[in-house]
Amino acid sequence: MSAVTADGGGFGLDHLPYGVLTTADDGERRVGVRYGDRVLDLASAFPDGGWRAPSLNGFLARGRAAWDSVRAEVRVLLAGGGGEEHLLPLEAVTLHLPFEPRDYVDFYASEQHASNVGRIFRPDAEPLLPNWKHLPVGYHGRAGTVVVSGTGIVRPSGQRKNPSDPAPVFGPTGRLDLEAELGFVVGVGTALGERVPAEAFADHVFGVVGLNDWSARDVQGWEYVPLGPFLGKSFATTVSAWVTPLAALEAAWTDLPGQDPTPLPYLAPGRTRGLAIDVEVEIDGHVVSRPPYASMYWSPAQMLAHLTVNGASLTPGDLFASGTISGRERDQLGSLLELTWGWREPVRVGDGERIALEDGDEVVLRYSAPGTGGGRITLGEVAGRVLPARP
Ligand code: CA
Repeated sequence: MSAVTADGGGFGLDHLPYGVLTTADDGERRVGVRYGDRVLDLASAFPDGGWRAPSLNGFLARGRAAWDSVRAEVRVLLAGGGGEEHLLPLEAVTLHLPFEPRDYVDFYASEQHASNVGRIFRPDAEPLLPNWKHLPVGYHGRAGTVVVSGTGIVRPSGQRKNPSDPAPVFGPTGRLDLEAELGFVVGVGTALGERVPAEAFADHVFGVVGLNDWSARDVQGWEYVPLGPFLGKSFATTVSAWVTPLAALEAAWTDLPGQDPTPLPYLAPGRTRGLAIDVEVEIDGHVVSRPPYASMYWSPAQMLAHLTVNGASLTPGDLFASGTISGRERDQLGSLLELTWGWREPVRVGDGERIALEDGDEVVLRYSAPGTGGGRITLGEVAGRVLPARP
């Protein structure tokens, strides 16, 4: 029996994130809870709980009272030293995409990131466009290409044209990038026409995942005007295998830096609480950046209020992401576009350097946050290796 240390390596009793697993001798997907370096198989520990399911979506739809009572049951079982026969070593399970995203929206909520991109692409203009401080800018991504951590990322091909090129060309992207983000997983849906006010955030959002919004910058740069990101983004978005419930993040809420001008009333000015989640961006085992989520401009509750203010409905498993997290400092930038300042200054990676991601590179995003027990919890990592383009 492997003992769980006081903080369980960030996966102790104060965390207990959810995932979906199979094992070599049981290929049917079921829900599990991570505890230390093991996984509690809920289908085996609570056989009548409906935990044999392809994803968390059914559980997500049940709402906060059910989320809280299941969490309490699991904590009581594990805190009492029970459940030994239902705990599987992490290396004995295969983890799958934990929820089925029906919709996926990506925001652009970091003032530093949006300003940096503005300065890089439009050096002679105001870095932020006029709407940016009045609404959380976002776009709809491709829910069907959200993949679980560990999935290989085939270098996408596409059409691109540098300003100096006489005509567009087609081929593998030469500017593959990462974007370190935080994703929010919706549990309780809404009816078409209904709004979710910022105050109702915790009634609808179940928890968070780490998220890498892989980006083909050369494809993006040619296609994005006037309707926004498309094929430069839609080839893959990686999320962590573990969904951390909001209940585990109660000690992580913090005030965001502040908003000026005051947003419209539906964006709940003054209710700008964010999460003190620290991110690490690693390429081939070397940390290249440490973006702080607490530096974001728009709060998650404001993003949800904005996403639904026109009556767009939510469904269980909906995913919305923060946008690239970039802090003020040079070592807090959440993309290679910014770290290289528009591909001009290579980033040191161990003994080598990078302008953009190369075939074989493994990107790992790591996340940690204050736990309710006084220590820190470690959110699920987001890993992906770049595979060569298809011929
Ligand atoms: Ca993004």
